[in-house]
Amino acid sequence: MTTEIILRDPRTGRSDGTVPVTSPQDLRMMATRLRSAQPAWEALGVDGRAAVLRRWKEACSERRDEITTALAADTGRWRESVQEFDAFVGTIERWSSLAPKLLNEPRRFTSTLGFIDIDKNLRPYTLAGIISPWNFPLVLSTIDMLPAVMAGTAVLLKPSEVTPRFAVALRDSLAGVPELESVFSIAIGEGTVGAQMIELVDLVCFTGSVPTGRQVGAMAAAQFIPAFLELGGKDPAIVLNGADVDHATTALLWGATSNAGQACQSIERIYVETSIHDEFVDLLAKKAARIGLCFPTYDTPGLGPIIAERQVPIIEAHLADALAKGAVVRAGSSAVEHHGGGSWVRVTVLSNVDHTMAIMREETFGPFLPVMAVADADEAVRLANDSSFGLSAAVFAATTEEAEAIARRLEAGAVSVNDSTLTALVWEGEKHSFKSSGLGGSRMGPASLFRFLRSQAILVKTTTAVRDPWWYPAELFEGL
Ligand code: NAD
Repeated sequence: MTTEIILRDPRTGRSDGTVPVTSPQDLRMMATRLRSAQPAWEALGVDGRAAVLRRWKEACSERRDEITTALAADTGRWRESVQEFDAFVGTIERWSSLAPKLLNEPRRFTSTLGFIDIDKNLRPYTLAGIISPWNFPLVLSTIDMLPAVMAGTAVLLKPSEVTPRFAVALRDSLAGVPELESVFSIAIGEGTVGAQMIELVDLVCFTGSVPTGRQVGAMAAAQFIPAFLELGGKDPAIVLNGADVDHATTALLWGATSNAGQACQSIERIYVETSIHDEFVDLLAKKAARIGLCFPTYDTPGLGPIIAERQVPIIEAHLADALAKGAVVRAGSSAVEHHGGGSWVRVTVLSNVDHTMAIMREETFGPFLPVMAVADADEAVRLANDSSFGLSAAVFAATTEEAEAIARRLEAGAVSVNDSTLTALVWEGEKHSFKSSGLGGSRMGPASLFRFLRSQAILVKTTTAVRDPWWYPAELFEGL
């Protein structure tokens, strides 16, 4: 069994340290300790919990440099690490102000019968297990953790073994916030640690690939606990006649290549109506050529490296398959580039692609914009829906009304109209992942909080003067 993780610098490919792996015994002790602390955390009430979280926000802000530096060392990119940190701190603030409003709302009412009051009591799950991926390590480790602890649930987090440095820095930030430290622990390790964790918790939130998500779902079913699965995608964009090509190319360029395309909600395939196809590809390629690589230094503007070494052969295989089947590189890389020991891919625009190619059907997780010409909106919708994934999508058309009508026909949990990846900007849009892209309630919007709460109906008869309609006849008991 692995006892330490060897750290790898994605910019240089070099090993630059180790982090100890949490042993099975320590994991069990963590779970026991979290369980015993949870009742006091629940009893603190939502206002008390919000006050503790605000103190944690201060503690994290004081350690901004340390956490951001660790995150950048994990991922090889700086600008996105700063954005991630700011988004994380913003999310603490949002839940600290929103959860009290949601949970302090009156939930007692009189039933239609008139003589029974119903008090909807919300009881948190005791212990949630959270398993997260490497592409946005901090945001995706805390996106479920924050509503969970606000609901009163204790949390055991297992971040990706690819990016464990930030987790050590985050753990250090808890030192000055003992109430939170008692109900939030971080375990370090590979998938085996995640699998052990599932046996110790009452609910699991998993963000990662479809194959692992299926395994996690099966393990949760065997444990008879709820699983919230947020998995991969192959998000389509549709651009129809009359769309603003300049606007669409700029929006899609960002939507497909931010974080070097290592985002679940990345646009990974584009369908453009034939009459504007050539103009669209030409402009997209010209814009793509303006974006470089964030190499050799962090402050060189451009795309960061491929974070996880294991993603490189997948990207290489998709690109080679596309080129062998006739795809044309209009801008960017015809192969993964190796600089300074890291692996890098330029913003890459491909034309002449079709659905026989893996790059149009499987998740690539790189900065690719494969563009396919389509005869009309119906063909675009058919091809966009011809996928086992259903995470998100984007539509551009001559009018917003036309684009919205197309959006409603797409098999995807979130569809951006007149833009792409709007899910990253607006938190309020509740959504489900369609098809293999996930399972379980929405992690966006207020519904996110209620995933960690069970409704308990306290049914109070407010008068004894009324007989229940199904009781034994009163005459039966006469004379007693
Ligand atoms: P992954 O499935 O390889 O690993 C995710 C996590 O699961 C890691 O922490 C890993 O250690 C753990 N794990 C592995 N095997 C396990 C097992 N048997 N039991 C329990 N845990 C186990 O995914 P990844 O490569 O880290 O992340 C990339 C994937 O995540 C992509 O498919 C991407 O689309 C997806 N993703 C989805 C979302 C979303 O919100 N839908 C967000 C980001 C990333």
